Amino acid sequence: MKAIVLKRGREKSLMRRHPWIFSGAIARVEGRPRAGETVDILAAEGALLGRGAYSPRSQMTVRVWTFDPQEEVSPEFFADRLSRAAESRAALTAGKGPHGVRLVNAESDGLPGIIVDRYGEYLVVQFLTTGAEYWKAAVVEALSRLEGVTGVYERSDADVREKEGLTKLAGVLAGAEPPDLVEIREGPCRFFVDIKRGHKTGFYLDQRENRAMIAEFAREAAMLNCFSYTGGFGIAALAAGAVAATNVDSSAPALNLARQNAELNGIDASTIENVEGDAFTVMRAWRDEGRMFDVIVLDPPKFAESKANLSRASRGYKDINLLAFKLLGPGGILFTFSCSGLMEPELFQKIVSDAALDAGCEAQIIRRLGQASDHPTLLSFPESSYLKGFICRVVN
Ligand code: SAH
Repeated sequence: MKAIVLKRGREKSLMRRHPWIFSGAIARVEGRPRAGETVDILAAEGALLGRGAYSPRSQMTVRVWTFDPQEEVSPEFFADRLSRAAESRAALTAGKGPHGVRLVNAESDGLPGIIVDRYGEYLVVQFLTTGAEYWKAAVVEALSRLEGVTGVYERSDADVREKEGLTKLAGVLAGAEPPDLVEIREGPCRFFVDIKRGHKTGFYLDQRENRAMIAEFAREAAMLNCFSYTGGFGIAALAAGAVAATNVDSSAPALNLARQNAELNGIDASTIENVEGDAFTVMRAWRDEGRMFDVIVLDPPKFAESKANLSRASRGYKDINLLAFKLLGPGGILFTFSCSGLMEPELFQKIVSDAALDAGCEAQIIRRLGQASDHPTLLSFPESSYLKGFICRVVN
């Protein structure tokens, strides 16, 4: 039998259904499990508490597949969890044509290390842990049986794989190779997704509901979309009556696709501007020129990668928010986000507040934002909540 035995008293987090077991909680490992293999999880007193994936290279030595001692971890287990996760998104997508949706959100769907995003007929999968890698064949088999799936593509080229001793991988896993661009619909907009070369699995699906939210503020607005990626918020704003949208991003391929996305939506090219550059530098130059906008979106990449760089990250958030407040007049609207899980909402609010203060303006939070509903947070696993944002209105 392959098993890990917990130190006395260290079963508490497991009893609260937290799915990670850190190396420091483990008294001993029995039966020489290989990386990724399933192990029984035993309390110090011997009680079987569940089963999980063994990952010797990671600080998170075991990630729990099941808290039910009766449940076996088998290909059928994965088929069942995957189809349940997919079904729970059915209402989001029914009758909406080709869409983008996260079907499986790792721990929050009971599948640590496994991400599945759907773009039209294609599934894009990330296997981020040794446990996920170990069961890859069973997962791919079950996914290719889901209705309407033409191909399953792997984008396991995330850095986190290296912490697990895994190499980065990308390529076709089953069925047809996706075309260079796959089209999806999102509300009134259409977007091209570059599954093979785009960021993450191709698109920032976690911002779907927030992109829709821009419509309320877009009419007649001059809009600045900072960290635009392929133009999502900008196109949503133009579709809802904005007079102009300016995308700023440091990635030329992302802006290229932003141009194609504008065309796809029949947007008049004269209403959209794409600026390649560092958002900090670009915004600073516009502040000096006195350029103003009515609505600004700030959706930067994860500035805080570890606790050690949280204070540096905080300065980054403060700087861009300060610049944004400088580019907004009274009545201006700021959508400001942080996708760093380590950045607590309270701290983020304080940073945005300090930025407004330094910019010499007063602002209100009129709405708090988070990740879309297909990126659920398991109640017992608050770590899965990472995206936070505010819609702020400048008072004066
Ligand atoms: N809002 C986008 C997602 C943004 S992801 C959407 O709805 O799709 C963050 C983006 O920031 C990426 O496209 C990345 O290329 C860009 N980026 C990273 N650092 C940057 C910088 N210093 N200046 C401008 N863009 C940057």
